[in-house]
Amino acid sequence: MSSFDESSVSVDIASNVQSIRLGIRQAALRAGRDPSSIQFVAATKTVAPSVLVEAYRVGVRIFGENRLQEAQEKMPNIGLRQGLAWHFIGRMQSRKLKDIVGKFSLLHSVESVEQAHRIDTAAEKLGIQQDILLEVNVAGEGTKGGFSCKEMKEAIDQVDRLPHVAIRGLMTIPPFSDNPGGTRPYFSELRQLRDSLAQQRLIHGGVEELSMGMSHDYQVAIEEGATMVRIGTALFGKRG
Ligand SMILES: *Cc1c(COP(=O)(O)O)cnc(C)c1O
Repeated sequence: MSSFDESSVSVDIASNVQSIRLGIRQAALRAGRDPSSIQFVAATKTVAPSVLVEAYRVGVRIFGENRLQEAQEKMPNIGLRQGLAWHFIGRMQSRKLKDIVGKFSLLHSVESVEQAHRIDTAAEKLGIQQDILLEVNVAGEGTKGGFSCKEMKEAIDQVDRLPHVAIRGLMTIPPFSDNPGGTRPYFSELRQLRDSLAQQRLIHGGVEELSMGMSHDYQVAIEEGATMVRIGTALFGKRG
């Protein structure tokens, strides 16, 4: 059994990409931001390789996978393509980390200092530096992983010492809200957290990414400073 839906989809990927790009552009301009400073990560869970090839054809360049096994099934089908990057956006189980590190150019959801240590060890073995984001559980939901806002200062201090891990920024998945504006306070809080950490010079390196916003609220996230939006449904249609 493969992890993705083999049936061909009837959604028009090209026109979806076009409307997402327009949405990104409009939200950026509303916020006085440069639209090209926002990266669009296609959330590709359950999406078949043939559909990913089509997405690539119409300009999508970052695929964000949630599960290692599913990604491993798809990657050989897609092969190496100019400018294509794979990100890991799902929760990472400890025993899978050694297979995740090095296969994805960015890990979005590092949720503990211990996990960062494990990533560092795996990256050292490969002789690489792994780019990561730290996931922040802004609302403090018990069901979700990630750091609390309060522990971030200390956590970054510790993770920054790991030589084979590079912190590129922060990521969050806010509590679900029917109303796109309902997530705005969480996005705003993540941006403020990043700004205050940067001010304390706790984040080294140039880029300070904010991975936040999904299909229903990516425009709000961009207005609040997102530099990466993770979009599945609005691109590929509803997951089966
Ligand atoms: C599935 C997923 C998304 C995309 O969600 P949509 O609502 O389909 O756009 C974004 N981030 C993560 C971590 C996901 O698992």
